[in-house]
Amino acid sequence: MSHRSNRTVALTTLGCKVNQADSDEWIRQFGALGYELVDFGEVADAYVVNTCSVTHVADRKSRQLLRQARRLNPAALVVATGCYASVATDEVARMVEVDLVIGDQDKPRLVERVHSALEGDDEQPLEALGGALRVFGARHRAFVKVGDGCDKFCAFCIVPYARGRARSVDPNHVIARVRALISAGFREIVLTAVHMGSYGRDLEPSTTLRALVRRVLDETPVERLRLSSIEPEDFDLDILDLWQDSRLCRHFHLALDSGCDATLRRMRRRYLAADYHRLMQSIRDAVPGVAITTDVMVGFPGETEEEFATSYRFIEEQEFAGIHVFPYSIRHRTTASKLPNQVGPEEKHRRTEAMLALAARSAARFRQRFLGQVVPVLYEGSTRTKDGSLTWEGLTDNYLRVRVESDIALTNQVVATRLEACAEDGIRGILLGPVPEIRQAGADLNILSAASR
Ligand code: SF4
Repeated sequence: MSHRSNRTVALTTLGCKVNQADSDEWIRQFGALGYELVDFGEVADAYVVNTCSVTHVADRKSRQLLRQARRLNPAALVVATGCYASVATDEVARMVEVDLVIGDQDKPRLVERVHSALEGDDEQPLEALGGALRVFGARHRAFVKVGDGCDKFCAFCIVPYARGRARSVDPNHVIARVRALISAGFREIVLTAVHMGSYGRDLEPSTTLRALVRRVLDETPVERLRLSSIEPEDFDLDILDLWQDSRLCRHFHLALDSGCDATLRRMRRRYLAADYHRLMQSIRDAVPGVAITTDVMVGFPGETEEEFATSYRFIEEQEFAGIHVFPYSIRHRTTASKLPNQVGPEEKHRRTEAMLALAARSAARFRQRFLGQVVPVLYEGSTRTKDGSLTWEGLTDNYLRVRVESDIALTNQVVATRLEACAEDGIRGILLGPVPEIRQAGADLNILSAASR
């Protein structure tokens, strides 16, 4: 039996960058098997919904996407995976729209399982298919998972139940993966893990995140290297000296969750607001122009009006480059689900709206500081405006979203751009640098289908 396929697959991803990294890996593996990637709204032979369970809204959205997949093609194989599929396996498996639920332990074999289910072939392990790395989809930024799981059991969080204990990927595998992605044409690599700060502690011999980043810089031709979220309590300041290397993106995502100490203690976070502030200061001193983004949760059980106001004031003073605001949502099995004084939905909504407005102001102030500067922007893709012109969009290393008008294709190009004016959620720019020739990807590149991600 041939193990190549001319079938189509559609993937959609909810939630965090670790989910995104998992999906990216599956996209590559589907590509290696000859699958064509199609948009999630199109008819496909298989649909994979990489679900999230961070809130009730995420659960609901996960279910909606699974139903949508079934409606799009009643004959398709519909696969649920990710955190919601792991923590609510029975509930998901009972959905008539779902054919296959792939839990946390089975995720490395997801593509193999889908392929077997479609081809009726249960025998051939994926490894036997071999072959070089093949890619479909956009090639500007690739997520490389360096760890999964978490041991911290913060009071509100379902992740340790859904993804298991913290475990790190062998650094040699990380290096090999980064090299392969770069030779496939990727310009920016994002190292991602659920609990990045504890990277390497479980390995034998043990190692550190700093040592891993050093190796990626030394042993691969990476052009841009970004780290996803690091937990404030596990942030080792020694890592900051590496940022003298301009290939490291000046961007840190440090989940704060609350700026009020009493709330932080109930959340079982392991730092206080003052610790967080000191950390931000150290980072800003070491990395000028750095973007610090964060997550903030509102309406945690027992969060009084005064606690919310304390958190709000603290956040207002920090000048974050971006804030993800989450209203607290009960997750069964977590400690917080049993706490008294749950905050009502209307109050949660009011606090969410207030925090979102603060987030928008804070991000706008951050953007303002960079107007007039000329910076390299990695362009990702374009949209056509009503008047027919093309607007290209990309990111600076310090997480500013920049849009320029250009008739020349800029996808996956790094171009010097002057930052002209603030727009609603980004900056309007003007191209200054020459647009480089389209970079030739390595010989093993095989673009199978354009896909928006
Ligand atoms: S550190 Fe806390 S919030 Fe983050 S994944 Fe672990 S348990 Fe969840």
